[in-house]
Amino acid sequence: MSFDYDLFVIGGGSGGVRAARVAAGEAGAKVALAEEDRYGGTCVIRGCVPKKLMVFASTYSELPASAGAYGWDMQLGPFDWLAFKGRLHAELDRLEGIYRNLLKNSGVESFDARARVADAHTVELSDGRSFTAKHILVATGGRPVRPDIPNADLGIVSDDIFNLETLPKSILIIGGGYIACEFACILHGLGVEVTQYYRGEQILRGFDGEARALVADAMKGRGIDLQTGTDIAEMARDAEGGIRVKSTTGAERSFETVFFATGRSPNTAGMGLEAVGVELGRKGEIVVDAYSQTAVPSIYAIGDVTDRVNLTPVAIREGMAFVETVFKGNPTPVDHDLIPSAIFTQPELGTVGLSEEDAAAQEPIEVYATSFRPMKVSFADQPDRVMMKLIVSQKTRKILGCHIVAPEAGELIQMAGIAIKMGATKEDFDRTVAVHPTMSEEIVTMRNPTRTA
Ligand code: NDP
Repeated sequence: MSFDYDLFVIGGGSGGVRAARVAAGEAGAKVALAEEDRYGGTCVIRGCVPKKLMVFASTYSELPASAGAYGWDMQLGPFDWLAFKGRLHAELDRLEGIYRNLLKNSGVESFDARARVADAHTVELSDGRSFTAKHILVATGGRPVRPDIPNADLGIVSDDIFNLETLPKSILIIGGGYIACEFACILHGLGVEVTQYYRGEQILRGFDGEARALVADAMKGRGIDLQTGTDIAEMARDAEGGIRVKSTTGAERSFETVFFATGRSPNTAGMGLEAVGVELGRKGEIVVDAYSQTAVPSIYAIGDVTDRVNLTPVAIREGMAFVETVFKGNPTPVDHDLIPSAIFTQPELGTVGLSEEDAAAQEPIEVYATSFRPMKVSFADQPDRVMMKLIVSQKTRKILGCHIVAPEAGELIQMAGIAIKMGATKEDFDRTVAVHPTMSEEIVTMRNPTRTA
């Protein structure tokens, strides 16, 4: 049977674009890709990239205070949101252009249309055309979800942040995950009065307990009104055009804006997937095997739509492994073990491997941890503490987890992640000479365990 294409990719985000251009460019496949919105997807257009640029913008407000301690007289002027937003969107346009060109230059045919799956080998576009393909790859990502409460549509979600006409004077952020905590720090740094409600006991559930506590302390220390054990109960427009919120603790307050950072959901609705036999999970995610293959052998899925590890570099890995498996004759399962990642709060949290709590539940461990004020901060009489922490297997001596709370922890954990992925033991870290004077030298100079468990 002959098909219009060897591969039809649905979704032009990080994972879909990578898979399409490698299949076409390196494996010589005839490839098409459909994207209903902007090329680059969540990461480039409304996630990691604009978020990180906003992190950079937000950190300048802290400069004058520390510069003073180093002898500089630096005054903080006003922040011009519209000027920054203009430059931000120009950069996103530039990046989207790059993504489009990458596809074109690899010979991928792209369609600016929504696509749905009509059968195991047919894709239908919203413009009425339909095409056949030997393989279909679904890489449609996810989208932010609001909680199921009346008037929830009065609140914004992360997609909206980058398009605000003005920055609000006050904001209530709901949630305690990556997005909630990152934007609490960003918006506070940009001068917004930030309140954050998190329903659980401590923010950043699933991460190392000590690291979570340190980030929470630093956020509160900066002036973010972080309230744990608190959720939104009711919301309604008030007479001044703000939003009146009643919390589960009974408090009532008005905020200019309410921002729901309450998780994301896979984009599978209305795609015809279940009708052709693709299995969906409880959250609507596509169920795949280790090779990203769905229950329909010709249909694969990668990235957030599969709700495995929802990070851009992981979606890219999954895309590459898919091409290796399907187009290069080299079956490659995706390795989801020991993935380093960072939360871009202030200070950042970099992490790889198991938290102390998860490691202790798995086997006997030693914990090496140190918390201190780094030289630059302590000289300026500022409060932020840094934490370096290693979780070590008593049996194998291997590092099971590494957690760093520090400025630029994202940069540090990438490096530590290499050693840990290679199977480094505590003694390998001990044999490494310190780089002095740095913050990260502490990671190789912790001689005695802080505790065992
Ligand atoms: P998360 O799943 O990380 O966090 C969602 C938060 O919302 C949790 O604190 C959760 O509470 C809370 N929540 C969920 N439902 C409700 C509700 N109905 N009412 C009140 N609170 C609720 O999602 P995010 O949206 O922050 O991020 C989505 C994903 O995007 C992340 O998992 C991550 O993979 C990725 N991401 C990665 C980043 C990075 O690498 N730096 C940055 C941003 C996103 P509870 O803990 O109790 O469930």
